[in-house]
Formats: sequence, structure tokens, C-alpha cells
Amino acid sequence: MTWETVIGLEVHVQLLTRTKMFCGCSAKVGDPPNTNVCPVCLGLPGALPVPNGEAVRLAARAAFALGCTVNERSVFARKNYFYPDLPKGYQISQFDRPLATGGALDIEVDGVASRIGITRVHMEEDAGKSIHDRYYGATAVDLNRSGVPLIEIVSEPDLRSSAQAGAYLRALKQILEYTDVSDVSMEEGSLRVDANVSARRLGDPKLGTKTEVKNLNSFSAVERALDAEFARQTALLDRGGRVEQMTLLWDGARGEIRPARSKEGSHDYRYFPEPDLPPLVLTPGDIDGHRRSLPELPAARRSRFVSSYGISVGDAGVLTATRSLGEYYESVAGAAGDARSAANWVMGEVLAQANSEKRDLKRIAESPPVAADRLGALIAMVRAGSLSGSAAKQVFAALPASDEAPRDIAARLNLLQVSDDSQLEHWIDEIFAEHPAEAQRFQGGEQKLQGVLVGLVMKKSQGRADPKKVNQLLAARLPT
Ligand SMILES: [Zn+2]
Repeated sequence: MTWETVIGLEVHVQLLTRTKMFCGCSAKVGDPPNTNVCPVCLGLPGALPVPNGEAVRLAARAAFALGCTVNERSVFARKNYFYPDLPKGYQISQFDRPLATGGALDIEVDGVASRIGITRVHMEEDAGKSIHDRYYGATAVDLNRSGVPLIEIVSEPDLRSSAQAGAYLRALKQILEYTDVSDVSMEEGSLRVDANVSARRLGDPKLGTKTEVKNLNSFSAVERALDAEFARQTALLDRGGRVEQMTLLWDGARGEIRPARSKEGSHDYRYFPEPDLPPLVLTPGDIDGHRRSLPELPAARRSRFVSSYGISVGDAGVLTATRSLGEYYESVAGAAGDARSAANWVMGEVLAQANSEKRDLKRIAESPPVAADRLGALIAMVRAGSLSGSAAKQVFAALPASDEAPRDIAARLNLLQVSDDSQLEHWIDEIFAEHPAEAQRFQGGEQKLQGVLVGLVMKKSQGRADPKKVNQLLAARLPT
């Protein structure tokens, strides 16, 4: 029996605001436990929430970037459940009237493009954090995260493989990074993924029973967990069994799926409209302003790089990995006057150096291994023929440690390319004197020796001779 996997993803994203969703407490991660709290986010009786305008703005931006319709009127709702890190006994979320609906995200896997539907984007606040087994099996609670603004991005069940799920997440993360909506760090928990998975017979229009996999803390964990869960379901179905609807946890260390200990997911959350907040109303002017404030998005930038700089689709993909890297590349290309060489330098030397120095590619334009104008000047020297490619790499290596101009470094290291005819003729004469047999054969018309002679001149000049010029001068010594 051939089975097909059907996947939908729910992605929680922490918004990049200074303060929490409904109070003025800092939303910073990593402060000492329970220091960023107040009556509102502690859920003390009588405290009233006030929505964070910046969080609404970022949520709307994300929704637009995902091609959603942002609704003029959405409604906050209470999602009721008990948990020790949720002092109010409910989370403020959105339910039947979300902020935005009906978007899509384009992905590509192995050259096959697909459009993945986005069902909705809604706003909510985060819960606190339980820290288990800290003191003699006791659980500690940190409420700094309580009330931090989130959006939840829910996809349609349009994904058909774990590779597509990975591609979707990478594309989503890139858009959120481009739009400054979130710092999208999975390590710090600002991007969290839950996956809904089911299996059905290939060609069957009816969806199978789905399970939900939680605790996915990296994109590779998502892909591995999806494969494991699909294998578990199809093995069950092949034996004639039935898939039970349930919540599962991914154990990355063991590479195993196991049922969640709690009955999470089977809750009836008893949603109702939040009585402490009026509906969230955005004017057409607000909505239009959010839409127009969007920066150039990754897909548009990739195709612009291909058409205006004449680089390949693959290279454009590398150079637009983050918004900052694209900006850095454009500055280098402008300073160099040669977009293709600039692409090779940035993808090669610059990225290698940035990786070895563990630089953040999200901020590489602000803090590059080598300033864009200096790298541009170096590339321009190669282009003008005053520096060979290998000499340029030596100058590049010396750039970070000094403020000298690339030309001065090249001169100091004696790397400037020699294209002065008299010096080149002098070297050729020396080579001819040292290799009289070859010289005689060459001058007698044996043209195939030219490459050997150019090599000898390059060696004598320690790589500084302009090979193009040397070729011209040698050719002139052939019998006419
Ligand atoms: Zn607070």
C-alpha cells in the first residue's frame, strides 16, 4: 500500500517588541526569573490589559508579508486552561475572529515549486515557563515570559513531505527576519513549531486521523519527527490498525516519538470573547500603512538580483539568505563596479571568514568581516588588472587587521601586478637566457611552448606579472 503524508504546521513566533502584549513590562529574554512582572502579567485580580500597539503593527506586517487579508475587526478571546505557569487561568488569544486570514507561502523542493496555504495569523500572549526538577524534584515557575506577545501562523494541510515542511519553515523564518517581526531564534524559543500529521492512501481525497507532534526545537527535529511519525502511522495502518488522535512529544536525543504525559490537546478550552478588551479595530488607513511599510521580500529580492546583477538563481539564493547579507552584497557590488565578482567574493571569502568568526548573518551589513567599500576597492583592483586573483586573496587576508587601503597593503606586500612592458620584456629575456633550447624552438615557430614560457615568467615574477600582457609580448616574438 502506498501512503501519502499530510502535514499542517502551527508556528508560534515571539514578536520583537520592547514590552509585553498587555502591560509595560520588558519582554526581554534572559533576565533573572520573575523580575519583569506586574499585576497584569501576574494575573492579579482587577488588573486590566492594554494592547501593545507595536505588537499589533508587527503582527499585521507579518500577515501582509504572508499574503494574508488583515481584518479591520478582530476579537481577543480567552483560552481557558489550568497550568502552574499560567496564573490567570487563561491565555488571551484570538479564536473565531483572528487578525488575518487566507495567505500563502511559495516553496521549492528539488526544483518543484508548491504554494502552501496560510489559514490564519492570530495574536496571543505567551504563558510563563515551568522549570522542572530544579530543586529536589520540585518545579519552579518563571513568569518573565508571561504576557510576551506572540503570533500563531497556521498553515493549511498542504505539505506532503518532511522536506516540504522544512522548506516552508525556512521560507517563513526568512520572511519574518526580513520584516523585522521577530528575531526568529529557535534556541531562545522565539520560534516554536507544532506539527499536525496524518497519512492517507495515495489518491484518496479524504484526510486520515491526525496526531499533533510537539517539542520540536529545530528545523531538523521537525523533519526527523515528521518522518518518524509518518512511519509509525503507516506501520499501524498497514497492520490494519487505526490511528488515534493524540498529542505526541519528539525525543530528539533518542530520535523517538512518544505520547505526551499530559492530556494536552484534548482540552476544551471554553473560548469566549475577552470581556476586558474591546474588539481590535484597524482603520483602512492603518492597514494600508502597514502594507506599504513592508520591505522588499526575499522572493522579490532574489529575482531582482538575478535580473539586475546577472548572477545565477542559486547565487541569488545564497546572497539573500538574510536581509543584511543582501544589503552588504549590494554595497560591495556598487563599490567594485563588478556585480559578479562581488558575488563570488561575498559567497567565498566573506562568508568563510564570517563563519569562522561566528558572525551573525542577520547583522553582517552593520558588522562585516571587511567593510563593503574596502572589499569593493580590492575587487576593482583585480578588475583593472593591477592585482592577480591569488594576490587579491592575500590582500583580503590582511584587510581586517589594518585600516590601510587595499592598494597600500598590496604595495607593502609587493603584490601589485606588473604590466609595465619594459619590466615584462626583461623577465622574458631572462627566461630565454635560462632556457635557450626552448627559446630557440619557440622563436622557430613552436607556438605550443608559449604556455610553458608564460608559466616560467609568472614564477620568476613571483606571480606579479600580468599574464595577459606576457602572452601578448611572447606572441610578438613568434616568427611572422
Ligand atoms: Zn507586566
